[in-house]
Amino acid sequence: MPPTPVKRKRGEGQWKLGHREPLNPNERTKRDDDGLNVRARIENIYAKRGFDSIDPADLRGRMRWWGLYTQRKPGIDGGRTAALEPEELDDRYFMLRVRIDGGALSTDQLRVVGEISQDHARDTADITDRQNIQYHWIEIEDVPAIWQKLEAVGLLTTEACGDTPRVVLGSPVAGISADEPIDGTPAIREILDRYIGSPEFSNLPRKFKTAISGQQDIAHEVNDVSFVGVVHPEHGPGFDLWVGGGLSTNPKIAQRLGTWVALEDVPDVWAGVISIFRDYGYRRLRHRARIKFLVADWGVEKFRQVLEDEYLGRKLADGPAPEIPAQTIDHIGVHKQKDGRNYVGAASASGRVSGSTLIGLAKAAEAAGSRRVRLTPYQKVVVLDVPDGSVASLSAELGALGLQVEPSPWRRSTMACTGIEFCKLAIVETKERAIRLVEDLEKRLADVHPDVPISIHLNGCPNACARTQVADIGLKGMIVPDAEGNQVEGFQVHLGGGLGLDAGFGRKLRGLKVTSAELGEYVERLVRRFVEQRDGDERFAQ
Ligand code: SF4
Repeated sequence: MPPTPVKRKRGEGQWKLGHREPLNPNERTKRDDDGLNVRARIENIYAKRGFDSIDPADLRGRMRWWGLYTQRKPGIDGGRTAALEPEELDDRYFMLRVRIDGGALSTDQLRVVGEISQDHARDTADITDRQNIQYHWIEIEDVPAIWQKLEAVGLLTTEACGDTPRVVLGSPVAGISADEPIDGTPAIREILDRYIGSPEFSNLPRKFKTAISGQQDIAHEVNDVSFVGVVHPEHGPGFDLWVGGGLSTNPKIAQRLGTWVALEDVPDVWAGVISIFRDYGYRRLRHRARIKFLVADWGVEKFRQVLEDEYLGRKLADGPAPEIPAQTIDHIGVHKQKDGRNYVGAASASGRVSGSTLIGLAKAAEAAGSRRVRLTPYQKVVVLDVPDGSVASLSAELGALGLQVEPSPWRRSTMACTGIEFCKLAIVETKERAIRLVEDLEKRLADVHPDVPISIHLNGCPNACARTQVADIGLKGMIVPDAEGNQVEGFQVHLGGGLGLDAGFGRKLRGLKVTSAELGEYVERLVRRFVEQRDGDERFAQ
């Protein structure tokens, strides 16, 4: 009998193991030219000659390295998204993402962000759940001028998208909160200064998401790498290191490496983790490229060992786990700072604001004696440094701008991704749907006052940009049949996901789908049943 052929395991495209040959089209685009180099072409060629002069490999690939995506052509229904070629979905306008690392803005910066929106983006601006600002309707001719205006106040679009180190999440109350054991801001600044825009990390297998916070207010469990504030019994305040979190398909909660990292060591340890991703990350299949797959295959012990031995050249100290807060920390409402002044958190309508609103916010903050505003990973805003005497007038001014300091539970805990209005991957509309849903629930559930948050996250497709799987009620956009059998916009429902104490993914119940039109009625039913059948202080996710 001939010998049975040995099945050879295919490589995963890991550079460090010698797989340098590009194994998919995205890898080839990155090999052909560094995404960072597209900026010169935008400034010198595309902005001068117009949209039609843009090389398709730049248009649908490298422009992301500078925060630019083409937006979806209006009028294409979600049922056709998957069947169309990219060029059929491309509009001649761009979404532009401004990275706001740590969510931190001075009022001068905020005013400039708002003015750019008015001048170049038809007054659009969305606050994302990664503390970014996104504009729409950007024309290529305007991009160099926008960069000039942003960079004059220290803001960047560098590596806001693409296979790069994206915006670094930070606590919206870093440096002012009495509850944080340590302020991560210096580490965020150093990472930004040393590594963002550097060719060292401009060709990663996939995007790389970072979160650094003294407290657990930035969804650290679903980032590629996170540093979470903790107090070590011997070494004092520092950070607990987590790796391998991420949502979308194959969601994973990040895992602790069991180490304690001093504030001054965070940038080097961060560089070690991202270097592992660059060198050992899987570049063969894009849907297996995020670092969560490598962490899952290696396990945390091996990951820590490689980090220490190959990249840091020293052992890290063991460290304790941070204590998990009882509830989501979203910073809404009026709170005391450690210096005796106040921070005031206000809810936008699922992140949808406008340039005019942002300028209004800057003015309201300054009128209240503040020069600092922060964006949150829950699509909210926080005004810092407000004296006691200005809290009431600021709250009223924010309310007039549509930013509510005492929002209903539904306005407070609802988020939405970009959806079909602008996103080329979307199957359904989300932003306006979320805004209408909140208004609907405020009427339907006016008599219901749950003492635990019930989060509702609307997503336009399986990519989970608005964190579908870790919401109490996670909604994933899809086409569903209505009562008459028509194919209409709707959502697959994931129930009982959460972060913190309830960290885990919502259950995707078979057949649990709801049409977009029925959403208000459906959520009302769910909430009333939860409130009626609730056992003691049970939370929605339990
Ligand atoms: Fe677009 Fe899908 Fe992300 Fe929503 S979840 S922004 S539809 S990719």
